[in-house]
Amino acid sequence: MEENSAYLAFLDIWHQAMWYLFLGAAALTVILVLSYWIRYASAGSLKAKFDLASRSETKTYLNANYVIAAGIVFIVNTTYQDVISLSPMWVFIRVFIGLCFGTLHGYIAYLIFKYYYPGPLDKKLKRLRYTPRINPSNGNTMKLLSEDEEDAYLDEGMQAEEDAFSVDYDVWIDEATGETKIEKYKGHLNALECDRCGFQTLKLQREEILRQPTNTQDGEILKEYKCSYCGRIKRKTQNLSTNVDKERDLSTGKLIADPLSHDNRLDLIKIEIQGTNGEKKLFEFQNLKQAQNFLKEFDFDKLKEEM
Ligand SMILES: [Zn+2]
Repeated sequence: MEENSAYLAFLDIWHQAMWYLFLGAAALTVILVLSYWIRYASAGSLKAKFDLASRSETKTYLNANYVIAAGIVFIVNTTYQDVISLSPMWVFIRVFIGLCFGTLHGYIAYLIFKYYYPGPLDKKLKRLRYTPRINPSNGNTMKLLSEDEEDAYLDEGMQAEEDAFSVDYDVWIDEATGETKIEKYKGHLNALECDRCGFQTLKLQREEILRQPTNTQDGEILKEYKCSYCGRIKRKTQNLSTNVDKERDLSTGKLIADPLSHDNRLDLIKIEIQGTNGEKKLFEFQNLKQAQNFLKEFDFDKLKEEM
């Protein structure tokens, strides 16, 4: 009897603690999501909303779901109190079941935000990026210039960044007054920021193996970067371990132009081509040469005969 009343007293404290932890988790979830929504709603422009959403939206929702998962563990640990009071063994079983439910929720949320959510988020980001801008001084609707038209409004450094595909600039123009608005977006490829001119135009130009790696010792590689805008050359040496950079031909110390063409692990190349009216075509090739020739030859008129 003595033992049993000690157990019941423990259960009281345990249930209370779980209940407060659950309330804490629920409050934290609301704070995380609400503070993101408030920041999003109060962002000054569509561009500011774009930056915020691309940087924080997935992270915020995922974190909120991890907190919910913890909340599930806590709330499960307040259930079936009558059964639990019969034997201490049930406490452990309930903890285990709570952890299972919590982990399940966290894992499903992870899968959703990793594999499903990028699609809808991308649509939302496109809408934020391409909704016509309004000129704040007169309320006119502005027009987005095409890649060819925009060059006249970008300085040489910006054009060099666009040519390196490291940054993508959108130029909006008020056709009535000629006022422009330039917005900066991330490009498809990476280039380092040049420490002299500050543009993202520093590209790897040459690599040289200074010391071959052996089974027991890392090698050393010299990387030479060149800024495509101001011409600055920057050299950096790095360790070269034996098991990385498989696409690099170590015997010559040069970059192989087509890493895939030398790799017998390559089985299939797929190229998907999307037309402006939403048509999609998927092409499959066994090797890189074929795929490259296809791209050289490709044109939509030829495609129509094929279909
Ligand atoms: Zn530079």
